[in-house]
Order: sequence, then C-alpha cells, then structure tokens
Amino acid sequence: MNRARLFTFGAVIAATAVLAVLGYVSLRQWQASAELLFREQARDMAAMAAEKVEMAILKTEEECLSSLQAILMDPAFRPESIEAWSRKNPLFDRLREIPQGFWERGGRRHFLVGDQVVLAAVIPGPSGAPVLAAMGRSEAAVKDLVLAKTLGGLEGPSLLAVLDRADNQVYASRPVDRARRVLTVGFGEALPTWRVALYQPDGISPIGSVRRQAMLFTAAFALLLVVIVLGLGATYRVVRRESEMARLKSDFVANVSHDLKTPLSLIRMFGETLELGRAPDEATRREYYAVITRESERLTRLIDNVLDFSRIEGGRRRYDIAPHPVEPLVHDVLEAFRYPLAQRGFKVDVAMAPDLPEALVDPEAVKQAVANLVDNAIKYSGEGRRIAVAVRSEGDRVAIEVADEGIGIAPGEAERIFEKFYRIGRSETQASRGSGVGLALVKHIAEAHGGRVKVESRPGEGSRFTLYVPVAA
Ligand code: ADP
Repeated sequence: MNRARLFTFGAVIAATAVLAVLGYVSLRQWQASAELLFREQARDMAAMAAEKVEMAILKTEEECLSSLQAILMDPAFRPESIEAWSRKNPLFDRLREIPQGFWERGGRRHFLVGDQVVLAAVIPGPSGAPVLAAMGRSEAAVKDLVLAKTLGGLEGPSLLAVLDRADNQVYASRPVDRARRVLTVGFGEALPTWRVALYQPDGISPIGSVRRQAMLFTAAFALLLVVIVLGLGATYRVVRRESEMARLKSDFVANVSHDLKTPLSLIRMFGETLELGRAPDEATRREYYAVITRESERLTRLIDNVLDFSRIEGGRRRYDIAPHPVEPLVHDVLEAFRYPLAQRGFKVDVAMAPDLPEALVDPEAVKQAVANLVDNAIKYSGEGRRIAVAVRSEGDRVAIEVADEGIGIAPGEAERIFEKFYRIGRSETQASRGSGVGLALVKHIAEAHGGRVKVESRPGEGSRFTLYVPVAA
C-alpha cells in the first residue's frame, strides 16, 4: 500500500517535472522562432522599401534625362534652356566634372563624387553628336520627390527611416525618437551610401510582445506547477489522513471489544460464584449482585456510546430537548459511578450552586456526556485520587464541570482529543483502553444543545472539562 502510494506520487512528480522541462523548452523555441520570423518579415519590408525607393529614383532620373534630351534635340536650343530644365527638374541641382575613364565606357552610370551620387549619361545632342550630361542630385528633392512619396504612406506600427553613411537620418516616415532600430538594408547602385532602417516603437515592438507573452506563459506555467505541487501536498495529506483514519478505525474495533470484555468477564465471574453458592454470607452476595448490576450498567454505557456514535455518523441521532433541572442528572451519573469511584479510592467533591435554573436539555444525552467526562477523569487520573464536579450558572448558560488531578493533556492535543477515534498515544493512556469516541460524543451533544465543551489542562497537574448547556428561558 505504502509502496503503491510512493509510486503514484513519484509518477505525478516525474510527470510534472517532464511537463515543466518540455514547457520551458518549447516556450524558448517558440520565442526564438517568433523572433526569427519577425526579423525576416522586417528584412523583407525594409528590402521592399529600398527597392521601391531605388525604382522611384531611377524613374525620376529617366524622366529628367528624357526631358533634357528633348531640349538638346530642339533646333532652337540655347544654353538658357538648360537653366529652365533645371528649374523644372529639381532632382538634379549640380553639374559635375566627369572623370576621364567614363568617356571611354559611354552609356549611363551612377558614381560617387565624395558622398554625392552623380548620374552621368551620354545623350544625343542637338546636332546629333553625343553630349555628356552629368548631374548631381538635390538631397531635398530626393526627400520630397522620392522618399516621402514611396515611404510616407507606410501603415502599421513599424516605421522606416533612411540613413546616410554616417548613420545620420536623412528621412523618416515618422519621428523615431521612442523607437528601437531592428535592422538596416542597403540600397542598390542608385543610392550606394544610404540604407533603409526599420524601427519598432518601444511599447508595441513584436519582439517585445513576444517576450512579454513568453514571460506571461512562463508565469502561468509556474503558477500551474505551484498548483500541481500544492495539489500534490493536499492529496498527500488527505491520503495520510485517510490511512490514519483507517488505522484508528481498526484500533477502535479492537479497543471496543476489549472494553466490552472486562465488564463481561466480571459479570460472568460473579454470576458463576453466586450460582455455585460460593458466596459465604448475605452481605457478600449483595456485594456481588451490586457488581453485576454496575458492570452491566457500564456495558450499557459502552454500547450506548458506540451506538450513539454510529447514529451521529449516520446523521440519525435525535435529541429530545426540553426544560429540565441539571442537578438530578449529575447526581444520577455520580450515583452510577459510586462503586468504581469508591473501589479505586476516589474522593469526589461536588459543588452545586444554589438556585440553579432549569436548562434546555435532552436529559439522557447530558447524562451520557457527563458520564463520559467522569469515566475519563477516573481513567486518566494516574496517581491522583480527587475528582471535583461542579454545576453553576454562567449568564444564560449552565456550566457542568468535571476536574481531575490526573495526567493532564499536552497543549497541542487539547483540540484533537475531541476528534473521533483520537486517543493520545502515550503509554499511560494506552494502559487504559478506550474507544476514542467518548469526547467526540460529548462535543456533539454539547453542540446539539447549542452549547459547547471546553478543556483546560496541564500535563501532570490534571484536566478540567466544562460542558455548557443553555438555560431554559
Ligand atoms: P477514550 O475512549 O480513549 O477515553 P475519549 O474520546 O474519551 O476516548 O478521549 C480521547 C483522549 O483524550 C483519550 O484517549 C485521552 O488520551 C484524552 N483524555 C480524555 N480525558 C482526559 C482526562 N481527563 N485527562 C487526560 N487525558 C484525557
């Protein structure tokens, strides 16, 4: 049984650990692949933007060149026409000198002069002879004509900026002050020194939100683990309690049987002695009869306890509660215990307060409760030989007190002794058998009357149990 339980707990713990490791690993993987995916998307987006810008520049340049060519082909060409062209085509604002090598290659080409991109093109001139046009771009025009048009309408949280060689920002689709740069992508030949940079606003960057989600999952997972561990702990406690209860129950059966045996063997012994006529005189015979009566009363009490306990457990215990004086009930109990008390040399102090009010009680139940308290006082008196019984009224309650000078109860046990089957596991206690349901019954009876039972005790000095029942109005 124990091994099976250990195995079960081990299996659950192992499963939990595997779950934890798997969860952690897959979370990390998910986070890594989400970040990778996001980076790829960002790169695509930046590359697309770069391509768009490049195409736009080339197209604008193409248009400029066509119009320049048209001017040059015009028979009415004059140098001032170039001025007019330049005003209409703000993309180019400078004329450049062309290095010698270019002449030989011919065609059209971008090249760098310092940090400036210059477009050089050979185009047919007015007389049909080739003319070399070399044009430097206006940065402002690139911004307004190309960048603002191609990158300006960007939707979504990401923003794009164009950076020059020294990482200075040439253009941004929106202000980037509170954003994080994710990556940069270079342009082609048309803008060789510039790059497109993709930014993510701080709060809503997908990487940040992936991280936040990962953290959230980790927290949820940790919580789950905590719940599992707590559940395990709780289950372990329940299982332990259950098996403790099973043990207590089997003890209970053994204890009850033993308790029944003692009075039975006394009854049988005295009965047989009488039957065989071995009692010498009338006085002895009377004494034997008395023992038989008393022991059968004890038997009845024990059996009543067990039966009542099973009725309580089954929810079938009924109480007939009515106004009743308390003193006669206590006297009846003491009378029933007169013989065992006297036999063991107990001195009983009884203190009944005068003018006690009637209480709202089930007389038989209260007698049973008090009998259990007196029985315990005898059983757990150790060397002590004094028992004090007192009845008094306290406000709207009548208090019935049974005190002994016996072995006492350790503070930690004071609550538990009212639990069913609970017996303090000490050699002194175990020496005197009991069923462990006596005080559970007392408590149930007290509460059924709307009252309660309390205990004050010190180990080695004795215990005082007080049963409170309500005064009849
Ligand atoms: P039991 O049949 O064992 O007496 P009870 O429910 O009456 O069962 O009592 C529970 C336990 O409380 C006892 O086993 C004993 O250890 C402790 N107990 C009860 N009454 C006293 C007392 N007067 N003095 C010391 N211990 C007591």
